[in-house]
Amino acid sequence: MTEHAVVIAGGGPTGLMLAGELALAGVDVVIVERRASQELDGSRAGGLHSRTIEALDQRGIADRFVSQGQVAQAAGFSYIPLDISDFPTRHNYLLGLWQNRFEEILAGRVGELAVPIHRGSEVTGFAQDDSGVDIEVSDHEPLRAQYLVGCDGGRSLIRKAAGIEFPGWDPTVSSLLAEVEMREEPEVGIRRDDRGTQAIGRREDGQRFGVVVSERYVGQSGEPTLSDVSQALVAVWGTDYGVHSPTWISRFTDMTRQAASYREGRVLLAGDAAHVHYPMGGQGLNIGVQDAVNLGWKLAQVVNGTSPESLLDTYHAERHPVAARVLANTMAQTALTRSNARMDALRDTMSELLSMDEPRKRFAAMISGLDIHYDLGEGHPLLGRRVPDLDLETTGGPRRVFTLLHAARPVLLNLGEPGGFDITPWADRVELIDAKYVGPWELPVVGAVAAPAAALIRPDGYAAWVGEPADPGLPDALTGWFGPPAARSAPFKTNRLRDRAWLQS
Ligand SMILES: Cc1cc2nc3c(=O)[nH]c(=O)nc-3n(C[C@H](O)[C@H](O)[C@H](O)COP(=O)(O)OP(=O)(O)OC[C@H]3O[C@@H](n4cnc5c(N)ncnc54)[C@H](O)[C@@H]3O)c2cc1C
Repeated sequence: MTEHAVVIAGGGPTGLMLAGELALAGVDVVIVERRASQELDGSRAGGLHSRTIEALDQRGIADRFVSQGQVAQAAGFSYIPLDISDFPTRHNYLLGLWQNRFEEILAGRVGELAVPIHRGSEVTGFAQDDSGVDIEVSDHEPLRAQYLVGCDGGRSLIRKAAGIEFPGWDPTVSSLLAEVEMREEPEVGIRRDDRGTQAIGRREDGQRFGVVVSERYVGQSGEPTLSDVSQALVAVWGTDYGVHSPTWISRFTDMTRQAASYREGRVLLAGDAAHVHYPMGGQGLNIGVQDAVNLGWKLAQVVNGTSPESLLDTYHAERHPVAARVLANTMAQTALTRSNARMDALRDTMSELLSMDEPRKRFAAMISGLDIHYDLGEGHPLLGRRVPDLDLETTGGPRRVFTLLHAARPVLLNLGEPGGFDITPWADRVELIDAKYVGPWELPVVGAVAAPAAALIRPDGYAAWVGEPADPGLPDALTGWFGPPAARSAPFKTNRLRDRAWLQS
């Protein structure tokens, strides 16, 4: 039996991102992936939203993705375009990049970080005890880990075997997505009907067509076939245009469900394993990657003995509400794709509403992930929000805030008098940067805010504390998020209840 600190089941977008975050923190992590290669059948996610690109930028790897994608200055709500060009971020756009390319680039990065991937193997079961998890893997010897993370997609075996409930809503729509050839010239474009939005588009080679079409009924089982595509086309367009030679066909539904808990003891869930929904707004991959960025540093600190296990409870507390909001907005968007007199009227009303500045900003920030606000209590508006990527002047020269986060370590950013802070007891974990920033402070949706004197930035880029050197809350914030001061290295066991109370307060 081989031992690792963390085993990740599933090397899709979420598992790869999590592996990279853990490897950066020096954690011994391994991925078990069912697919024999990173190749993906069919097209899935088609784009990255602003906050995901920012998260990649925080690690210094955004350019790898941006250089391979297409920039579009709009997000969308049920196909109603939302201009985001005036958003206060360097990445004020949607990046068109197919999921297979995204995974390929990310897998390259994980390879550079020397994370082993057992490809062509799957986790078939596990048993956890007080000190770890025994994991059964097909075609491989069993593994043992301190923690097992299920990044194994919507049908997650890890979630089911952990006994975690997956409440939500059954599907009302089943859609087929396919790349095909057609003997007759089809009607290219979008059609709306009472089942949703149907579309046929010509591929770049001019020969093939991409098709999205709803099926007559839901509840189909088994792999979708060419005959299914043909029947669905006939139901909408009255002909199948002589459809033939599919490159791939996939089926997805608007089943909407969320794990009741993201953690059961030493087993955690992230990405589609924790939440599934219709792909309206293109948010699924994005929130999975952001789950990984939230969980990565916390799990690393627990595994490395820096923080108590209770830090992991903040993962569910912060990320569950984010996905719940995405589930709600995708259900609303899916309803709006249907066409009848009443829905058309509602859609016109929404289009008018979203042409106004304030609603446009709110909805676009929600879809692009820029409005995420973790509830860390009362305080400066920056508290619990992402710290903007400001251009700073430091003693080492000009630096951007995001470059300070490349190593995924926390940073205390002092924008006041240099030397105002002494965080020696945390100096092994938290980097203190004295810097100057001259310019406005603007947060998405919130608008202009007062310049803070200092901010404690978590490795995921969110502000854990905002204040001045004299603020007595800083030692508590440092202890709560990044472990007890070095001089009392053991007490987190005895102070566990106090720390848990602090994190939950
Ligand atoms: C048609 C369609 C269009 C979409 N469009 C968008 C979009 O535009 N934007 C967007 O953000 N999202 C979109 N999504 C959603 C997006 O594809 C998913 O949210 C994303 O793939 C989730 O990533 P994940 O890593 O959590 O899970 P997955 O991508 O499902 O990866 C899970 C991995 O685990 C592996 N695995 C499963 N079981 C096991 C096991 N027992 N042991 C080992 N390995 C296992 C699988 O092989 C897989 O590689 C779309 C989805 C569909 C179906």
